[in-house]
Amino acid sequence: MNPSPCCQSGASSADGPLTWFAANLQRCHEYACAQRAAGRRIVGILCEYTPRELIMAAGGVPVCLCGGSLKTIPAAEEHLPSNLCPLIKSTFGYHVLRSNPFLEMAELVVGETTCDGKKKMYELMGETRPMCVLELPQKEDSPEALEHWTRELRQFRSELERRFGVEITDAKIREAIAVMNRERELRRRLAALMKQEAPPLTGRQLLELKSSISCIPADFEQYERALEAFGQDGRSGRGGQGGASRVRVLMTGVPVVRGAERVVDLIESQGGLVVCMENCTGLKPILEDVDADAPDPIRALAEKYFHLPCSVKTENKARFDVLRQLAAEYRPQCVIELIWQACLTYDVESRRVERFVQNELGLPYLRIQTDYSPSDSARLSVRIEALFETVRAAAQASARSQS
Ligand code: SF4
Ligand code: SF4
Repeated sequence: MNPSPCCQSGASSADGPLTWFAANLQRCHEYACAQRAAGRRIVGILCEYTPRELIMAAGGVPVCLCGGSLKTIPAAEEHLPSNLCPLIKSTFGYHVLRSNPFLEMAELVVGETTCDGKKKMYELMGETRPMCVLELPQKEDSPEALEHWTRELRQFRSELERRFGVEITDAKIREAIAVMNRERELRRRLAALMKQEAPPLTGRQLLELKSSISCIPADFEQYERALEAFGQDGRSGRGGQGGASRVRVLMTGVPVVRGAERVVDLIESQGGLVVCMENCTGLKPILEDVDADAPDPIRALAEKYFHLPCSVKTENKARFDVLRQLAAEYRPQCVIELIWQACLTYDVESRRVERFVQNELGLPYLRIQTDYSPSDSARLSVRIEALFETVRAAAQASARSQS
């Protein structure tokens, strides 16, 4: 791996990791090409239920293929219903156009039975690409469901061994677990910087501090550098640019994949600061580690991934526990839920989230349903601004009552 461009240009230590991760596509592409040349297999993944550890233990490089581009959607709509989640359409558009270099390199694509749109899209993608779909059971409290998921992961291990002609030993899985735990820990510590009164980063900056490929060794150095730089800068709220006076926002709902950050930008351009993202591109997948010393590493992986509180689960009570915990730690002044158009599971669940946020957390709640098109940006800005006015008015009233 080449040294960071910021090392060469002499950029400040605080900007170095931001510059590094901003070049995600180019860096990951170079890394994937180098790893493939060294004999490793590129494996595309499409969901946070995928245990990257098993792919890594098979000598593979797991790469996230989720599409965040508006440009690939028209090509997808020639094959898929237009009234479908933009994340699914964008991902499939890359497949149709053959324009995602990681998908073109992938020797296997792994999906799960999560939402209906995704699993039916996998059938079409699987017509021309090697595909493996894990069956995710959806009753969160059912012991049988966890048993089934554990069996699925054991079969996945065998499938990877068969396809790639390798042996996946328990020792290799434990090694991969340890590396993934390390990455999760570093990213958790970075996210925790946003608990400060004047956070050192914007929510958008934090969102970008990760790669499409997990566990790139050079990324670990950059995570450490970011912790050092922003940990110190946090005293002045450098990255937050007036972070203490902004409205603290907890975002929940669908993943905010690269290229689809428009709503985060709207929130932060209206005077908000996204101090916490509960979703799959934020904290949700990295809150829990895997027990690297467990006697059965597959069972340990199954438990960690089965606990992920996605809206495809029922009743998904764990999501409310996570929201409660994050609200206590990050002290948001409001909650904004993002729902991609036609995402039925998050859309229906949002009714319960709204009640929970208002009644139990005692916070204002705003539900934003949109897609990747910027056509509604002006309307969304007005709604966000109105929410922030409510928050500020409540804060002023509370301050007056205490003085
Ligand atoms: S929101 Fe659900 S379906 Fe989407 S990536 Fe996360 S776990 Fe997978
Ligand atoms: S956002 Fe919703 S509809 Fe879209 S892929 Fe995720 S779970 Fe499925």
